[in-house]
Amino acid sequence: MTRLAMVIDLNKCVRCYACVYACIRENILRYGDGKIFYPPVENVIYYSRTRPFSVYDDNGNAIETVLAQCEHCEDPPCVEVCPTGASYISKDGVVLLDSNKCIQCGLCIVACPYGARTRLTANFDGEPLHDYAIKVGIPDKCTFCYHRKTDDNSLWTPACVEACAFNARMFGDLDNPQDPINEILNSKKYVVPKIDFGTRPKVFYVTNKPLALEKYPVRKPLQEILNFGIWSYVKKKIMEPIVLVGTSLAVILGAIHIVREHAREKREKEEVQEEVEKEEVN
Ligand code: SF4
Ligand code: SF4
Ligand code: SF4
Repeated sequence: MTRLAMVIDLNKCVRCYACVYACIRENILRYGDGKIFYPPVENVIYYSRTRPFSVYDDNGNAIETVLAQCEHCEDPPCVEVCPTGASYISKDGVVLLDSNKCIQCGLCIVACPYGARTRLTANFDGEPLHDYAIKVGIPDKCTFCYHRKTDDNSLWTPACVEACAFNARMFGDLDNPQDPINEILNSKKYVVPKIDFGTRPKVFYVTNKPLALEKYPVRKPLQEILNFGIWSYVKKKIMEPIVLVGTSLAVILGAIHIVREHAREKREKEEVQEEVEKEEVN
């Protein structure tokens, strides 16, 4: 088995946010005609799949900044609530989303206790770098840069890991005892966010601080995103079927009408023919 996971060493991290911008460059921005295209949002960091959040102590003082992202939970509520199976766990333990199956209902956005999922609500120009890049309407989150996976199944390097000059990010396989991330998790103090949720998160934060990640910032999805989801759900689940049934009925009734008309014309012609024949006999 393979269970891919990430370690973010908050002791090494200098908060340069090279990882945040690398993620945006790789997964969010679009390109074409020698230009860069940005999503229509005030602050593009909102769409980065790894975002800085402050953690506060009981007195409301900010004590730490963590890079929050999808936790690639082993028991992910987002997968559990998805009505179409669009959200799923890959065989190497990465939580992914099949945009072809997604009906954009937004249930996964609401179900994620970490607020890891965003949604692009208006389209923009340019070509994405790959198939797993952000798409309008489809809930978006970290994929561990799954598009970088190669056919030989070897471990790839996510864009954020590649960008970190301080080796604060590591990506590896929890099921491979030789993988360096297991040595780190066996020898260093780490925390995982909201462990009490029972989601079994797989992004681990190494820290010397007595950091209670029960206080991990849970980001509420923006109302416009939820509205978009509700509207999309109504459109896909209620209006489109009504239009489909209505159109099908119209086609069927139209066909019945044509057949009946044809039969009536035939009958009339036969009656006229009979009349003519009777006239001729008389
Ligand atoms: S690139 Fe590395 S050091 Fe910079 S913010 Fe990200 S994890 Fe921290
Ligand atoms: S962090 Fe949220 S989006 Fe990511 S796997 Fe867990 S429940 Fe799903
Ligand atoms: S693994 Fe890829 S998608 Fe996930 S935060 Fe890093 S750069 Fe973004």
